[in-house]
Amino acid sequence: MDADVIIVGAGLAGLVAAHELRRKGRRVALVDQENANNLGGQAFWSFGGLFLVDSPEQRRLGVRDSLDLAWRDWRGSAGWDRLEGPQDEDYWAKQWGRAYVEFAAGEKRHWLRDNGISLTPMVGWAERGSGRADGHGNSVPRFHVAWGTGTGVSEPFAQSAREAAEAGTLTFYHRHQVDDLIVEAGRVTGVTGTALAPDNAARAMPSNRTAVGSFTLRAPAVVLATGGIGGNHELVRKYWPARLGKPPRQMITGVPAHVDGRMLDIAEQAGGRIVNRDRMWHYVEGVKNWDPVWPKHAIRILPGPSPLWLDALGRRLPFPALPGYDTVATLKYLRTTPDIAEHDHSWFIVTRDIMAKEFALSGSEQNRDITDRKKLAVFKSRLSSQPPVEVEAFRQKGEDFVTAETLEELVAKMNGLTDAPLLDAALIRRQIEDRDAQVDNPYAKDVQIQGIHNSRRYLGDRLARTTKPHKLLDPKHGPLIGIKLHTLTRKSLGGLQTDLSSRVLRPDGTVFEGLYAAGEAAGFGGGGVHGYNALEGTFLGGCIFSGLNAGRDLNGTL
Ligand SMILES: Cc1cc2nc3c(=O)[nH]c(=O)nc-3n(C[C@H](O)[C@H](O)[C@H](O)COP(=O)(O)OP(=O)(O)OC[C@H]3O[C@@H](n4cnc5c(N)ncnc54)[C@H](O)[C@@H]3O)c2cc1C
Repeated sequence: MDADVIIVGAGLAGLVAAHELRRKGRRVALVDQENANNLGGQAFWSFGGLFLVDSPEQRRLGVRDSLDLAWRDWRGSAGWDRLEGPQDEDYWAKQWGRAYVEFAAGEKRHWLRDNGISLTPMVGWAERGSGRADGHGNSVPRFHVAWGTGTGVSEPFAQSAREAAEAGTLTFYHRHQVDDLIVEAGRVTGVTGTALAPDNAARAMPSNRTAVGSFTLRAPAVVLATGGIGGNHELVRKYWPARLGKPPRQMITGVPAHVDGRMLDIAEQAGGRIVNRDRMWHYVEGVKNWDPVWPKHAIRILPGPSPLWLDALGRRLPFPALPGYDTVATLKYLRTTPDIAEHDHSWFIVTRDIMAKEFALSGSEQNRDITDRKKLAVFKSRLSSQPPVEVEAFRQKGEDFVTAETLEELVAKMNGLTDAPLLDAALIRRQIEDRDAQVDNPYAKDVQIQGIHNSRRYLGDRLARTTKPHKLLDPKHGPLIGIKLHTLTRKSLGGLQTDLSSRVLRPDGTVFEGLYAAGEAAGFGGGGVHGYNALEGTFLGGCIFSGLNAGRDLNGTL
């Protein structure tokens, strides 16, 4: 045997599994197709948002949360509807959902702290939902951002793996691409694959796939932590569900190229069961990175509640397709409404004041102050009337951004970003004037304006995330900024079906002995812990929880 456990994938899920196995001195082979620069996978690039329930950070901001409320929210968001019996696709997903919400309301915060992850005092309110108490969405803010953003979450475990390697209990197999699982007498006993030519590509840059040899590794157990399909548009299109209409002709990419989804089919062919492949989590607030790292590099704008959101023909999107409310409903609206589904984009119009206070960009490199843990700079920037430097850089250099003093000039510039001039300035002016007439009272009939008032009743948003309602056409708050938004591919919500110990199941529901899966490859637990919708900050946590469960089970059984 080459190790006690082979872990395929050195992203967060694989690293957490390795970290847990290290506690018991297990010998681990950590295999990844990329080079050592990429330790941490997607988590390194992430915003570091973590879903926690009833935390001291929430309480300090006056948020009253509970396990019961979070579970109601999770169930309402997941909408699991494949629950006929133990063979059904959501059978384990739902059990994972409950276990995960209990983790987020209990052990998680201590576990994070014990493992070197600290949290900023800010708690964001993501996915405000579909407007129904029993539907999708967070009733309260739960998005806790780690100091260091994604690097603050991934680095403690990357460091743990490096230390284990120095101590001789972990061996890195970088540039080793797994092509198959070895199955003997119904049990997974190892992996085979291609040794790839050395490549010094910087983190997340595409690397060569030149074969220089082959390899075989054997162990009593294999953990697949190989991520999702977001970097592979062909697979995204293949599994795109009819309920979301047709995928856009042009999409941009919110994950590095190594998120290729290749290992999922390999595991399925070897005998594992993949479920809920039609559930995905892509964002429609994507902009092209003016300073790209990976091909078609997309950045997601994390908007506050105030931007005016228009379809490609310049009409305001209806509730719940409001900024920060309901990711899948908005995607569905844009992809299934006949006259706009033929276009790939939509638009935000904001004032400079809205951009300054409400725009954040998702990614560790887009939030240098939090990533570099410059606490004073973070507080100054979040309370300032100036936009964060990264947001301002996009305004100035991003190809999707235009700025103008008057609406007519702005719309002309927006029309300059599309092949045909689809926007009518008079139509947009009429809608903005109607909207602006709603801001003079602390109440309104316009549902978006109501939402802005609601947001400002939460101290965290009032301080750092939501502008005082103002007229978009009031030059005091200008200039006006128009942003062309694209669909960016990010996460797979389905994946390998696993039981609560992260053991992969076969199509007949029995355990596929010797095979475990964690992280995005396992639909963040159970093959779809989120169901149809995520509450956000739940992906990193899902990688941690499923990696931990795999490690714990292996520590108990090996
Ligand atoms: C910009 C950005 C912002 C994000 N922000 C947040 C956030 O704030 N909160 C949140 O919860 N989530 C966030 N996410 C999502 C989250 O980061 C990911 O879902 C999570 O990190 C996935 O981790 P993983 O370990 O499952 O997979 P990955 O990080 O994708 O790692 C998989 C690894 O497996 C390797 N691999 C794949 N196939 C093979 C093979 N055949 N052989 C060998 N190696 C292989 C890959 O090279 C890779 O290193 C964000 C993601 C991005 C990109």
